[in-house]
Amino acid sequence: MEPSLKIPKNKPRNGLLYLLVIALLVTSAVIIFNPESNGIKKISLNTFVEQVKNEEVKSVQVKNERLDIVLYDNSQEYAFKERGETLNEILTNVPEDIKSKIDIEVVSTEGEEWWMSLLLNLVPFLLIIGFFVFMMRQAQNTNNQALSFGKSRARLSDKERNKTTFKDVAGAEEAKEELIEIVDFLKNPGKYTQMGAKIPKGVLLVGAPGTGKTLLARAVSGEANVPFFNISGSEFVEMFVGVGASRVRDLFRKAKRNAPCIVFIDEIDAVGRHRGAGLGGGHDEREQTLNQILTEMDGFEKDTNVIVMAATNRPDVLDPALLRPGRFDRRVVVDMPDIKAREEILKVHAKGKPIIKSADLELIARHTPGFSGADLENLMNEAAILAARNNKKIVTMKDLQEAIEKVAMGPQRKSMVITKQEKEIVAYHEIGHALVGHILPYCDPIHKVTIISRGHALGVTWSLPEEDRRLNSQKKLEDKMAMALGGYAAEQVIFGEMTDGAGSDLQAATNIARYMVTQAGMSKLGPVIYGDQNREVFLGRDFGHVRNYSEEMASKIDTEIKNFVDKAYSRAKEIIEKYRSIMDTIVKDLIKKETLNADEFAEYFKGIKVPKKISYTQKI
Ligand code: ADP
Ligand code: MG
Ligand code: ZN
Repeated sequence: MEPSLKIPKNKPRNGLLYLLVIALLVTSAVIIFNPESNGIKKISLNTFVEQVKNEEVKSVQVKNERLDIVLYDNSQEYAFKERGETLNEILTNVPEDIKSKIDIEVVSTEGEEWWMSLLLNLVPFLLIIGFFVFMMRQAQNTNNQALSFGKSRARLSDKERNKTTFKDVAGAEEAKEELIEIVDFLKNPGKYTQMGAKIPKGVLLVGAPGTGKTLLARAVSGEANVPFFNISGSEFVEMFVGVGASRVRDLFRKAKRNAPCIVFIDEIDAVGRHRGAGLGGGHDEREQTLNQILTEMDGFEKDTNVIVMAATNRPDVLDPALLRPGRFDRRVVVDMPDIKAREEILKVHAKGKPIIKSADLELIARHTPGFSGADLENLMNEAAILAARNNKKIVTMKDLQEAIEKVAMGPQRKSMVITKQEKEIVAYHEIGHALVGHILPYCDPIHKVTIISRGHALGVTWSLPEEDRRLNSQKKLEDKMAMALGGYAAEQVIFGEMTDGAGSDLQAATNIARYMVTQAGMSKLGPVIYGDQNREVFLGRDFGHVRNYSEEMASKIDTEIKNFVDKAYSRAKEIIEKYRSIMDTIVKDLIKKETLNADEFAEYFKGIKVPKKISYTQKI
């Protein structure tokens, strides 16, 4: 948790409280340990007079109403007299010669006890006053909370305690390089202003979730050693109209006071979407908030050293006004980590965890294509949890590998009861995928097949590319489609009917086909994009005009998609029929063993000629 901005204000209150407690303790100590009332006998005034008459009294010390008496046998006593009554008056009946033998001392109490009595009188008042002050502050805080809608909830992170630097960000070299410049702006603004250069105001970090955008922004503030105001776009948007705008004002006011500093707006797409596009309520609010952000950024003095960083994973939906020069004109793309970066990230998060020396993090990196930085962090954590759960002192390679599967596919559900018949269907289904994937040259090699259910899936076939790839050829997409339909085709060939367990496979195949036709220009319909390229449609903007093609075209698209899927299905079916006997053998073993790894699976194809894998780098 980051401490709130109000922390400094809290200090005096605590100070006052401490003072009161200390005062209370001191007074009680003085009272309790007052030596005068310890182990000394109290006697009545009459007894005292008797003792004087009997010549037992050696000395008397008079202190206000109190008489401290020492007897000849050296025992001590005390007695009280009436106020104003003198010792002489008390001892009127005692013969003068006896009285004269007693050593009488009158102690002035002025100057000694005034502070004590003051303290004693004052402490209760102090306590009461303190209590009221305390209550008032409390009430004020609650009030503040009620009235602080308009206040930004930006948190100022504690610079000293958890300072993030570029060292904590593994990989992302290009992004870091761009941001080093920003660090320099913050550290030496003079260098740039002297040249008449304007310091950039806005930096937009663009990247998929979990790629380390927030981390990078923090690292910039850590490197430049400036305060970091962190607010999420969604926090601007509340139930009440006008709140967002006033929060923006407040945020920037705070920021300017703390310049040089960084304002970080996370998930800016929550407020920064195309204006005038919203459906339903709330878009006015967003518009106002966005306008306010733009106004504030435009209103920066030339030498205001506040840099606004924002993060989004949807740059396509951002309002163009945000991206104009002078606003978020710097764009830093934070990529998904490649294999090298993944290894680095794993190393960063392995710190502080007892990982076995022989652990091959490069192998783990190779087995985690498509994992983001956050996924990798999660992986390391899961591995540690697995090791701890088994009461181990060190994280082994097995834990790491198990963690990959857990992060990628959800936890194993070994206890799930499936009937024998279902098990057989699942096994054929999975081997259907694996077989097609193994035979088709563009599919990634099979890494593992299992009928242990994970997450929602009853079984999993897992293939892994030999290297990270960013482009897909048409052939590859066609092979992928066929592999996706391998399970469905196997059920069809073996059992003559299908189950509804293949629904997501059909969805996957259809999605690939639709993508090929409408987005990638890979069909007869030519190199035309149909529909919006940003397929994840943002409701507000695209509702009502998703389709920018005719009915006639729509039916042509559907036909093309169906052709692709049909073709893929018949390819899959063909392979399954051809290799039926091997399939039966593998399925039998899979039902027994539940899991087959890459080598075990490849073993079945020894001596059988299958097409060689064609990797991306070889072709194209
Ligand atoms: P984003 O803001 O892009 O969604 P975050 O910055 O919140 O992602 O990243 C989430 C977590 O993932 C971080 O706290 C960090 O631990 C880890 N992480 C992500 N990318 C990296 C990286 N490049 N190096 C080290 N850790 C990373
Ligand atoms: Mg984030
Ligand atoms: Zn399937």
